[in-house]
Amino acid sequence: MEDLALILKEAGVVGAGGAGFPTYAKLKRDGIKVYIANGVECEPLLWTNKELLLNAPHMVIEGFKLLVDFVGAERGIIALKGKYKEILDLIAKTVREYGYNFEIFAGSDHYPLGDEHVLVYESVGRVVPAGGIPLMVGAIVNNVETIYNVYRAVVERKPVIEKLVTVGGDVGDPVTVIVPIGMKFKEILSALNIDYEGKVLIEGGVMTGKIVSPEDPVTKTTGGLLLFKEGHPAIARMSAPISYILKRARTCCIQCRYCTDQCPRYLLGHDLEPHKIMMSMAFDMGMSVRKSALLCSECGVCEAYSCPQGLSPKRVNQYLKAKLSQEGIKYTPQPNVAPRIDRDYRKVPTQRLMDRIDIKRFDKKAPLIKEKLRADEVTILMKQHIGVPAVPVVSVGDHVEEGEVIAKVPEGSLGANVHASISGKVEFVSNALVVLRRERNNHG
Ligand code: SF4
Ligand code: SF4
Repeated sequence: MEDLALILKEAGVVGAGGAGFPTYAKLKRDGIKVYIANGVECEPLLWTNKELLLNAPHMVIEGFKLLVDFVGAERGIIALKGKYKEILDLIAKTVREYGYNFEIFAGSDHYPLGDEHVLVYESVGRVVPAGGIPLMVGAIVNNVETIYNVYRAVVERKPVIEKLVTVGGDVGDPVTVIVPIGMKFKEILSALNIDYEGKVLIEGGVMTGKIVSPEDPVTKTTGGLLLFKEGHPAIARMSAPISYILKRARTCCIQCRYCTDQCPRYLLGHDLEPHKIMMSMAFDMGMSVRKSALLCSECGVCEAYSCPQGLSPKRVNQYLKAKLSQEGIKYTPQPNVAPRIDRDYRKVPTQRLMDRIDIKRFDKKAPLIKEKLRADEVTILMKQHIGVPAVPVVSVGDHVEEGEVIAKVPEGSLGANVHASISGKVEFVSNALVVLRRERNNHG
């Protein structure tokens, strides 16, 4: 078989459920004990993974088989939430039909079960070293939409040019749509007749997402587009300026350590104690405390769920991570550690989390609309992934066909190729983005 890693590199497949790590670079072929298909989707209100599993189970399972066989993993585990019985039964039935020996892990309804470190521990009982990656314990984890993209790249020879996006939050009836990469959020809302006047847009989930402009485009990692009225607790945290967050950290933290006691990474045994990091904003606690911010997964439990003072250790950690990165300071992965003894009692139930941040009333299914939304213009970013930006290989005025490469990863660098998500004319090119516009006679 042609080298799978090469096909995925050419097709621009990156982690669809996280920061966009290029998938080909994860495919080590030595000592892989377990491959985990992550279909947990623990962020409240998002349905892309669930809808994909319900609508295209065969593609996910065949894609997973390709990956498991390619790396020679001893075990293949499909991780889902036990509460979605319909999905669980469908996936189990499909696996049986194929006769594959994949295991199904039915996880509990806790947040953030989908975090790679948490999932590896919950499903196979191994703690990924602090500051490390699952490969260090012989595990690879891929989101199910990434695996679907693997299937499309290998079997259908289609590069990554579209994305499943849940449009939800304060919108009445949420839906999951398939959109061309580069379609602007305002175009998606307009196509769905959703009025966003007086609302704030979040790309991703309420816990790990970010506030975006209606003018911003969908990327390979956009999982959700959530709308909330200005002032809703889910967005108040995100919009506060960092100077205010730091000032409150210095003056209002009562050192109760709830943030630490409920931090999912601390509970795994990692040396991350956000209450100490908060203290270090006012007092010198030494470099090791500040450096521990690098272990933060930015799950948001501390700010959205734990802190009685409404503080944000997560934002403080993000601030410190940026500073440490500028200084070139990295965290050396620590050898394996054991989870805290009281971990099981301190996990955060998703329902309670949703109550706490006042989003339970928006928790509705977001069924998939199967027909892809049409975009007449797309703004395609050159960096939608971890690594170096792709370099445009098209010029203004060129005509490109859907699926054609418009930007390439420089030889020898980590990154992902970028493809035209619609057929049309190149309107604009820079190092950061390419704009394509459908031509008049092009109805495709
Ligand atoms: S966001 Fe908070 S709770 Fe989550 S890993 Fe970071 S410090 Fe821990
Ligand atoms: S939970 Fe809030 S008040 Fe308590 S230690 Fe953490 S940041 Fe400080």
